[in-house]
Amino acid sequence: MNIHEYQAKAVLREFGVPVSRGVPVLKASDAGAAAKELGGPLWVVKSQIHAGGRGKGKFKEPEAGDKGGVRLARSVEEVETFVSQMLGRTLVTAQTGPAGKEVNRLYLEDGSDIEKEFYLSLLVDRSTSRVAFVVSTEGGVDIEEVAHHRPEKIVAFSIDPVTGALPHHGRTVAKALGLSGDLAKQAEKLTAQLYAAFVAKDMAMLEINPLVVSSEGLLKCLDAKISFDSNALYRHPEIVALRDETEEDAKEIEASKHDLNYVALDGEIGCMVNGAGLAMATMDIIKLYGAEPANFLDVGGGATRDKVTAAFKIITADPKVKGILVNIFGGIMKCDVIAEGVIAAVKEVGLETPLVVRLEGTNVDLGKKIIAESGFNVIAADDLDDAAQKIVSAVGKA
Ligand code: ADP
Ligand code: MG
Repeated sequence: MNIHEYQAKAVLREFGVPVSRGVPVLKASDAGAAAKELGGPLWVVKSQIHAGGRGKGKFKEPEAGDKGGVRLARSVEEVETFVSQMLGRTLVTAQTGPAGKEVNRLYLEDGSDIEKEFYLSLLVDRSTSRVAFVVSTEGGVDIEEVAHHRPEKIVAFSIDPVTGALPHHGRTVAKALGLSGDLAKQAEKLTAQLYAAFVAKDMAMLEINPLVVSSEGLLKCLDAKISFDSNALYRHPEIVALRDETEEDAKEIEASKHDLNYVALDGEIGCMVNGAGLAMATMDIIKLYGAEPANFLDVGGGATRDKVTAAFKIITADPKVKGILVNIFGGIMKCDVIAEGVIAAVKEVGLETPLVVRLEGTNVDLGKKIIAESGFNVIAADDLDDAAQKIVSAVGKA
């Protein structure tokens, strides 16, 4: 689960991490009061969307005075102008995709006088099963470009969970950033604070870009992006409360309510499969025959009829879907249960696209019988290869 920058900064502040003072602004009419509360003389108006690259982003349907999703203001009036220019617009950045994201929240922050911009992130390194730090002097924007063309500018190390963050980890960070004296001490303290926050809140990724040295000689986190491990959210109701559903795919939210593993994609073939591995194989074979999957969907091993119905409704509600492939291997799952779920859903929402069903395993004959006797125009398939070819040709892509 992702949260907004201003929420991430509030989480980090609890651990003593140095972040600027700021006020979230949800209505243009609140901008003036927020600006006066902070006092200036420099403010930053920051678009809050779950995507990076905001500074270099561009608003859709450009208007006079537009200048990206992060703007420096030098007076209360300027803050008010920028807020009213940015709220409600759609911002397109390198990370949003061409559709962009609507800016419904802004964050007004104290402006810093920046001397240097660094990059620092923490993530779970699966190969070492540890939390890793990634640090670079080349911060600001475009860390991907640095990783690609100047990998020697990136320093990475991981922390043994038994010892946790030790002073030498902090010194490694300071050295990688070329800091000495008091700034090195600040880097050491920050390293321990960020590690503590990461572990305590079950984060999956924490990215500070930029981490800056201000003209007053202070190390400060000017941007913060956090993703939390969804499997640990039950331990953090305070984090779940920060969820902004308008940032998430409506189909994925609906799927999570039914405990379905669903990821929306861009293709035209809706897939309903049991088991993540089989779902991946199904997506691969759809591509092999020339079409693209509209989603990844694993209904799980022990899906009930209601769960299958819910899954089918989510697939058919997607306007991109031009055909549906149901591919079920009945092990724990029984084919007749799947068949009943599919038919119940078709009865409820109708069937406007071709539907290919491939069933195999426990109670397969009963499952096929239920589908054959339903009276709906369902195309039966014998195996995965046959199923993929049938659905791809049914949508006219073969
Ligand atoms: P994004 O990464 O989405 O573009 P950032 O929060 O990193 O958004 O902001 C982009 C740039 O704007 C930063 O690299 C920094 O140079 C500048 N910036 C951001 N916040 C502040 C601030 N509080 N004071 C001064 N400059 C800032
Ligand atoms: Mg940034």
